[in-house]
Amino acid sequence: MSTVPAIALRGVVKAYGALRAVDGLDLDVPEGSCVGLLGPNGAGKSTTMKLLTAQAIADAGELRVLGFELPGESKQARAEMGVVPQLDNLDTTLSVRDNLRVFARLYRVPKAERDAAVTRALELATLTDRADARADELSGGMRRRLLIARALVHRPRLVLMDEPTVGLDPQVRQELWALIARLRSEGTSILMSTHYIDEAERLADSVTIMSHGKAVSVGAPGALIAEHAGREVLEVYGPPVRLAEVEAQARTAGHATRRTGTSVAIMKAEHVDGDYGEGHRRAANLEDVFVHLTGEEIA
Ligand code: ADP
Repeated sequence: MSTVPAIALRGVVKAYGALRAVDGLDLDVPEGSCVGLLGPNGAGKSTTMKLLTAQAIADAGELRVLGFELPGESKQARAEMGVVPQLDNLDTTLSVRDNLRVFARLYRVPKAERDAAVTRALELATLTDRADARADELSGGMRRRLLIARALVHRPRLVLMDEPTVGLDPQVRQELWALIARLRSEGTSILMSTHYIDEAERLADSVTIMSHGKAVSVGAPGALIAEHAGREVLEVYGPPVRLAEVEAQARTAGHATRRTGTSVAIMKAEHVDGDYGEGHRRAANLEDVFVHLTGEEIA
């Protein structure tokens, strides 16, 4: 049985003057999967999101969303998509419930089903007991949950989330992770841009790492870690001069390294037997892969 991919982009280009914000991007979101879009600032993540919602029109390439071709069939695609914007654009003069009602109507949920749709969205976002509060009475975390609930009110097949947990404290981020994990377990397709690498590692079935408008690596987090960073990394601390020496020594011995502000991490440390002085071994993670491939710290 063949299923329609939630998102399939091929060779997509979007230029602003001489700058190619998206430069030959291929991106796949298989139906029912959660894909994390990672990249340093300026990599083209937001532009990609805008192309998917037809807020921007590509200069070249093929874009299919839920089987619809963009930009020609963007209205049909949008009708079955939920979009969680990065900026909070709730109507603060309305109650939580009315914010959801407005969207249920906009997304053409039949009148007879609207109350049930709103009740379900409230429950998903654990906002049932705040349903009658005005949006401006909510905490930051609750507002973010409401933004997500609003994108789900018409039971979209695909949800786009642009930096869903940016600027939130750790406890609130965990609440949102639970919500995203639940959506994923219900079979909703999700594309989530994030610069929290741990978030992608935790939630995404697959990640696409973007740099300069292109996909530089694609795969399941565990597979990418195994391929690029191995099982362990050896983290060596020291003053800048010492770090440069360690880097040179490791590279001469054929080992990839990555920098952080205060250390050099040597990848695939399970195969490293040189003497690098003070250092400690730790499990490799997706951030090692990201920095290794893009050469950049997370913004
Ligand atoms: P990211 O979301 O990964 O940080 P963006 O998609 O916002 O990256 O930006 C990619 C590049 O395109 C950046 O260099 C940015 O300055 C540029 N860019 C984005 N939007 C515009 C625009 N409307 N006009 C001109 N340049 C833009």
